[in-house]
Amino acid sequence: MPNFIDVIIPVPLQKLFTYSITIAESDFLKPGMRVSVPFGKSKIYTGIVCKVHNTAPTAYEAKDIHQILDDSPIVNEMQLQLWQWISKYYMCTLGDVMRAALPSAFILESETVITKNTAKIIDESILKDDEFLVYEALHHQSSLKIHDISNILDKKNVLPVIKRLIEKEAVSVEEEVYEKYKPKLVRYVKLHTNYSSETALKNLLEELGRAHKQKEVVLTLFSISAKTKKPVKVSDLANESDASSAIIKTLIDKGILEEYHIQTDRVQYSGDENEDSKQLNDYQKTALIEIKASFETHQVTLLHGVTSSGKTEVYVKLIEEALNNKKQVLYLLPEIALTTQLVSRLQNYFGEQVAIFHSKYSSHERVEVWNNVLNNSAKAQIVLGARSSIFLPFNNLGLIIVDEEHEQSFKQFDPAPRYHARDTAVVLANMHQAKILLGSATPSLESYFNAKQNKYGFVELMHRYNDVLMPDVELVDIKDKLKKKRMKGHFSDRLIEEMTETLKDGHQIILFQNRRGFSPIVECNTCGHSPQCPNCDVSLTYHQYRNQLRCHYCGYNMAMQQDCKACGSQDLDNKGFGTEQIEEEVKMLFPDYNVARMDLDTTRGKYGYEKIITALEQQEIDILVGTQMLTKGLDFRNVKLVGIMNADNMLNFPDFRAHERSFQLMLQVSGRAGRTEERGKVLIQTYNPHHNILQQVSTNNYIDMFNEQMNDRYNFKYPPVYKQIKITLKHKDYNRVEIASNWYAKSLRQVFDTNVLGPETPPIARIRNQFYKNILVKIPKQQSLSKTKEAIIKINNSFSSVKDFRSVKVILNVDNF
Ligand code: ADP
Ligand code: ZN
Ligand code: ZN
Repeated sequence: MPNFIDVIIPVPLQKLFTYSITIAESDFLKPGMRVSVPFGKSKIYTGIVCKVHNTAPTAYEAKDIHQILDDSPIVNEMQLQLWQWISKYYMCTLGDVMRAALPSAFILESETVITKNTAKIIDESILKDDEFLVYEALHHQSSLKIHDISNILDKKNVLPVIKRLIEKEAVSVEEEVYEKYKPKLVRYVKLHTNYSSETALKNLLEELGRAHKQKEVVLTLFSISAKTKKPVKVSDLANESDASSAIIKTLIDKGILEEYHIQTDRVQYSGDENEDSKQLNDYQKTALIEIKASFETHQVTLLHGVTSSGKTEVYVKLIEEALNNKKQVLYLLPEIALTTQLVSRLQNYFGEQVAIFHSKYSSHERVEVWNNVLNNSAKAQIVLGARSSIFLPFNNLGLIIVDEEHEQSFKQFDPAPRYHARDTAVVLANMHQAKILLGSATPSLESYFNAKQNKYGFVELMHRYNDVLMPDVELVDIKDKLKKKRMKGHFSDRLIEEMTETLKDGHQIILFQNRRGFSPIVECNTCGHSPQCPNCDVSLTYHQYRNQLRCHYCGYNMAMQQDCKACGSQDLDNKGFGTEQIEEEVKMLFPDYNVARMDLDTTRGKYGYEKIITALEQQEIDILVGTQMLTKGLDFRNVKLVGIMNADNMLNFPDFRAHERSFQLMLQVSGRAGRTEERGKVLIQTYNPHHNILQQVSTNNYIDMFNEQMNDRYNFKYPPVYKQIKITLKHKDYNRVEIASNWYAKSLRQVFDTNVLGPETPPIARIRNQFYKNILVKIPKQQSLSKTKEAIIKINNSFSSVKDFRSVKVILNVDNF
């Protein structure tokens, strides 16, 4: 009897491909193993076996596979099921899911580029002959493609050789630049113990004699440590003694000073650094008991806990319990790069059992975590990761925590699969019969709605730890302030007063401005013209630092213009404002203090984000200006004032979730103020202080916000009341995309009638020279979701069979955010 396998290959094709195998291979092959297969005229792909069977394909003759790449499955049955679910629910192909799910080192294919792994020195004697040939070739050429390697080895099936080279860590698969996660180390110095006695020190100073500079450094070190009684950073010593790093190095070389490094999180947690988890207070205990009770009846439970209520410590207890039951734990975070504090907290409790996984990891690191999870190894009992960690090969999952569950970055925008990690995690938990806890101070309407419907269990934690008061929120009417001439630039007199006070007391300040750059738009005061991006329908943004105009959508940039390109007038004005301009203004207003900025532009470099966080923690920064990056779960003890520069640009954003988001954002930023005994203060500047959302933020009234927003969602048929699928069409020819989208919408209307909206031109109609049109399909609760999707796919298929439409790109986005 002939034998076949169905294979998933990492290309966006609707169907699986069937290949023919020998009887011996059919005894060996299991779903989840990799095979290398020929595809098309000359391509080679790595495929994942989905099914072993003996039904020949009817439409084509099955080709033979090239080679089996694994001895045992690297993807388990439950993962294959999850892939199927994602592909169906989010309307994408299994190939799309495979590409998102597997570390790229697992997917060797014709286009794969191999480079030498410079991070590791290889003992060449461990390499087999064919491996050595490839490795040797990489001495002369920085990278090789698969077909180059075929030529070198003079054979077709080279994937097994490459696979072995990867396993020996001799070569890497090239991919986008990534940053390795490393805890930040800070350099400190102290006087060598030889000189700890007073006489020894005196002798030393005499010895140094005429080396005045060196003597000065030693004396300064002495006085700083006497004053602060804390470890002394090299940078501080250099600053205070006005010495060059060369002089300090000389002293270190002479053995007079000793250099050492401390992991910053250790510095921060010194004092309460211990291996045991914390004793919960009564509120936390109650919440823990309620969560466990809720898990008896609900797989999913929502924990609504105000900022700084100690949710993390509650999670820790649940994790301990799961580990005691020998279960794996998945801890999902919105963006792991932004949560170094949490990483070190969990590592302090669980040490080596914590594995960290995210897309910025190198391929080797990701493969390592993958294998540890697959083998249920002790090193990966807790996986802490961003959205893609739902794809890891868990086989024994007992608990999933989704921290900051309201965060929109859990949803993947582009490319497909456009999945939501929180919602996918619920499905994953269900497959494993695991419990899943969603936690947030500002739950998404979706999750809160599900909790109200009793679909999810629900637990509240409404007291801040140590009864720290919620910050005092004050709304400042800037329209009124402008009229009364009480604004200096973008700062109201109230904000300046509070800032002055806070700085005088030695506390720190965070200023939140939801836009980066200096000033989003440059406008001519004579004719109203503002410079536009040539590729996108947006105005260019002025970046003072580079004196450039930049497009935030495609990266286009040009030098700042001196005069209006339309009328020649030199009277150009800056409309709106960004983080860079706020930073400038703060420096003018408070010249004696250290100001820093945190946004996409300042955190791009290696460890850019960590550097700013560390500086803030160590109180080298008095005032930090930033975008929404600031809202992530940071815990800064000394920040007492948070200023929101302008609430209106968030509230007026053209999106049905704008109000919900503004509420979440403002409450989360406010949560950064005053996390210790003293009450924090939040000032929100706005043109519209009577806006309901602002009232709800200032009274911390989630319920009112929820009820009011849900009302709108009912009235306008938006999620979570209705489900929705967004269909985006794009093409470089405006007419074609217009005709195509009209055709598409008309076909949809024949099935869904008034529940189709559009085609609409999005607020930014053209990006990178592609014109966009959106169509929205709204799906009532009682309408079958799977039937709806089937109907859309049918329309989509007829659409792509129209010759004129074939080049129009269609993007299906289920539960779009
Ligand atoms: P949330 O995640 O709810 O914002 P955290 O878990 O970050 O709150 O807790 C806020 C602060 O209170 C943290 O500094 C944490 O260390 C401290 N904390 C919370 N619970 C306890 C506890 N039971 N014992 C000691 N400190 C705690
Ligand atoms: Zn002009
Ligand atoms: Zn552009």
